[in-house]
Amino acid sequence: MLRCMCDGKRESSGTDPHLTRWPPTGGAGSEGGSAPPFADLPPLDGELAVDPLSRAAVADDFGHHVRHYPRAVLHPGSVDDIEAMVRYCRERRIPVAARGQGHATNGQAQAEGGLVIAMGSLCGVEVRGDSAEVQAGARWSDVLAATLAHGRTPPVLTDYLGLSVGGTLSVGGLGGAAHRYGAQVDTVQELEVVTGAGTRVVCSPGRRPDLFHAVLGGLGQCAIITRATVALAPAPPMVRRYQLPYPTVESLTADQRRVVRDGRFDYLEGNAEPAPDGAPGWRYTLEAAAYHDGGTTPDDDALLGDLSFERGAEEIEDTPYHDFADRVAPGVDYLKSTGEWYDPHPWLNLLLPDTAADGFAASVMERLTPADIGPSGVVLIYPIPRVSLSTPLPKVPDAPLVFLFALLKTATPGPRVPDTRAMIAANRSTYELARGLGAVRYPVGSVPMDRGDWEAHFGDQWPVFAAAKRTCDPAGILAPGQGIFP
Ligand SMILES: Cc1cc2nc3c(=O)[nH]c(=O)nc-3n(C[C@H](O)[C@H](O)[C@H](O)COP(=O)(O)OP(=O)(O)OC[C@H]3O[C@@H](n4cnc5c(N)ncnc54)[C@H](O)[C@@H]3O)c2cc1C
Repeated sequence: MLRCMCDGKRESSGTDPHLTRWPPTGGAGSEGGSAPPFADLPPLDGELAVDPLSRAAVADDFGHHVRHYPRAVLHPGSVDDIEAMVRYCRERRIPVAARGQGHATNGQAQAEGGLVIAMGSLCGVEVRGDSAEVQAGARWSDVLAATLAHGRTPPVLTDYLGLSVGGTLSVGGLGGAAHRYGAQVDTVQELEVVTGAGTRVVCSPGRRPDLFHAVLGGLGQCAIITRATVALAPAPPMVRRYQLPYPTVESLTADQRRVVRDGRFDYLEGNAEPAPDGAPGWRYTLEAAAYHDGGTTPDDDALLGDLSFERGAEEIEDTPYHDFADRVAPGVDYLKSTGEWYDPHPWLNLLLPDTAADGFAASVMERLTPADIGPSGVVLIYPIPRVSLSTPLPKVPDAPLVFLFALLKTATPGPRVPDTRAMIAANRSTYELARGLGAVRYPVGSVPMDRGDWEAHFGDQWPVFAAAKRTCDPAGILAPGQGIFP
């Protein structure tokens, strides 16, 4: 029996106080009020909520700029509930969106006039030696807590652990260990899903691989993930974390390439921050980590000796593994306390081919001002070798090395900060420039896309993906918020 780490509590939609407003104000989308209520429902183990507050809570997400109101919210008491309601919706052509933690930023987990399935009520985790069986509504923080009790960890964790397993497996799941283990989807051994036809299927690389590969990184189009078996690695007791400063994009990426090539670190990311003391431009940080047992500590000279960071300004600290994995939690608490966590987040995430990474990132950063990403905006730059990304999806550039380049914007009103609409327009033009250089979106953020954009995004994988959609979701009801099959 899977142990539910969230005690079966209702998924809280991110506990955003702004989500409890009704009637809602602002944002795109209607209130879905004209849609008739569901009738002749199948018996359910869980609860179908139709009250305005429940519907408003899932008509928003971390982006806070798209709002689509469903007719009802299912808090499933079982996978049977998901099967029954997907069949019900398929027969009536009612759109259905699975919702994990609602941390997409562009309405991806919303369903205007449809059904939102709040996966948070199915959140069990069971550790079995070197793997864990996890219900898709569990958050990665739940998974980590359960696995650490057995001295194990998922090999790849996202920077923020408050995302659901189903939510990140439907997009990919990138983090600082991706250079070694690939995306989270690359660590999945088996899935249980409910297809858009309302059929429960277990799939793996050896059993219905077509479905397995259409669902991992498949943006919720073919099936709802209900359970995943994920590989585990031994959890290190301690982590030595290095934050190494660089003056330019090129100097940062040169050392990132060097350390990716020889694999000396267990974790590798990088970021840009506004230069200190109001100086113009940006400062870059290579963030790396070496795992250790607290007894034998990493050899700093061997790890850093040949790197070209600005010596004297580096930061090195030892920290327990859990605290390292959950390192953004204090920042999140702070942003919740200031309210910025609840501001609009029109994010842009790109995957750049190595050949274009330096020139493109440098030219964007040259023009970018701190105000363009908002006061709590974040810029990420880090490489992932293509060879570590073994599942067909998510789509990545055709290059031996790709760079995640992310402008994580917050449209907090302030001096010279563009409004949400302007940030989204900037995302679109930056995306178009990048696409011309062979980049693709890591599609979790806010970029307006039409059907042609999606076909271009999937490229030669489009025919297979579109065929899987037709087969697995014959009524085309799943994950309408992605806008791939309008
Ligand atoms: C603060 C923050 C930090 C982040 N950090 C990272 C990071 O380090 N690495 C990274 O890769 N991404 C990161 N992301 C992006 C994040 O991984 C994606 O937005 C992810 O989809 C969000 O998970 P969720 O549970 O909130 O999904 P939701 O927003 O609820 O859903 C997103 C999409 O997944 C679909 N979906 C949800 N559950 C299921 C399911 N069970 N089966 C099928 N489809 C499903 C939805 O229908 C929707 O289309 C971050 C996002 C935020 C807001």
